[in-house]
Amino acid sequence: MQKILITGGTGFIGSHTVVELVSAGYECIILDSLVNSHAAVVGRIATLSGKTPLLIEGDVRDAACLDALFAAHTFSAVIHFAGLKAVGESVREPLRYYDNNVNGTTTLLAAMAKAGVKTIVFSSSATVYGEPDFSPIPESAPFRPASPYGKSKAMVESILTDLVASDSAWRVALLRYFNPVGAHSSGMMGEDPAGIPNNLMPFVCQVASGRLKTLRIFGNDYPTADGTGERDYIHVMDLAEGHLAALRYLARTDASPLMIANLGTSRGHSVLDVVNTFSRINGMPIPHQFVARRPGDVPAYWADATYAERTLGWKATRSLEDMCRDSWNWQKQNPTGDIG
Ligand code: NAD
Ligand code: UDP
Repeated sequence: MQKILITGGTGFIGSHTVVELVSAGYECIILDSLVNSHAAVVGRIATLSGKTPLLIEGDVRDAACLDALFAAHTFSAVIHFAGLKAVGESVREPLRYYDNNVNGTTTLLAAMAKAGVKTIVFSSSATVYGEPDFSPIPESAPFRPASPYGKSKAMVESILTDLVASDSAWRVALLRYFNPVGAHSSGMMGEDPAGIPNNLMPFVCQVASGRLKTLRIFGNDYPTADGTGERDYIHVMDLAEGHLAALRYLARTDASPLMIANLGTSRGHSVLDVVNTFSRINGMPIPHQFVARRPGDVPAYWADATYAERTLGWKATRSLEDMCRDSWNWQKQNPTGDIG
């Protein structure tokens, strides 16, 4: 049985990916500092997958902890989710973001190199593209990250690209996620943002549950069909399956050891599409008002995800309806969000 180290494995995308990998026969060991997640997620993973993954509470910047981990286990690959992800916070605290996301990754890579584990799947982001010239965005689009968060992802992509160029024993997948939403269909795992959510879907869910009163829609004067911003929302279980496909690809490939793929649905949905679909599918009105554009927001973008389909044999299959249903199912069963 192949053993995979999952950094950030108790987080939103990591936890869903662990369920997917365990169900596919991998053994997962999670390293997470719990800075943005709860240890209790492990119990939910166990219920859903039938196996309890080992959780090591530790930080990817802790070289001694990593060395001990690699000495104790033989890993065939690492999936590196651990990182901070709030764009606004990264503008206020750039050093914290570069330290966590960039230094955290170089510390992890050094430990991997020392242990001879040279296969890694990295969580990158569509934010590396910034405001694109056009959509759908292909992987070849130029980088224009607008925040320290986006820049930290672009920096790590450069580091991994240089690493592969220096030593072709490395096998690297850079996965650029678009807008992950949704939850496990059981309602047992989902997104658990601290404080008032910045992102659309968790905000909509909290309006539906009555925790928040009204959704503020940032701008209805964009050059889009209904004037509200458009994004490529992707179900978190589709993303989880994308990681499984990337691991399998890296294990079998003789081609380039560096693969870079957008993970999206290749279609955009507006804020009003999300609000109206959520209301229709769940039978819940979402009170909303239009307010000024949010500074820094891009009007519209979505992925060209055809490369992932060709290379990984992976394609997102879940609809916006599925995303809205599963998000609400999770929120409804966990009204405070906090499963800890
Ligand atoms: P998340 O915050 O739910 O999960 C990240 C996990 O990493 C958390 O459990 C956190 O406790 C852990 N962590 C953070 N810093 C750590 C450190 N130094 N050492 C050990 N653990 C640490 O976020 P998520 O949405 O699951 O995102 C996972 C990855 O995907 C992140 O790297 C994020 O930047 C990237 N990503 C997320 C999105 C999104 O919208 N959710 C979009 C694109 C890319
Ligand atoms: N959005 C909104 N109200 C909110 C949160 C988000 O209108 O309370 C809009 C935002 O302007 C953007 C879309 O929803 O057009 C997606 O925003 P989110 O923060 O979820 O993702 P990102 O900006 O990272 O694409």
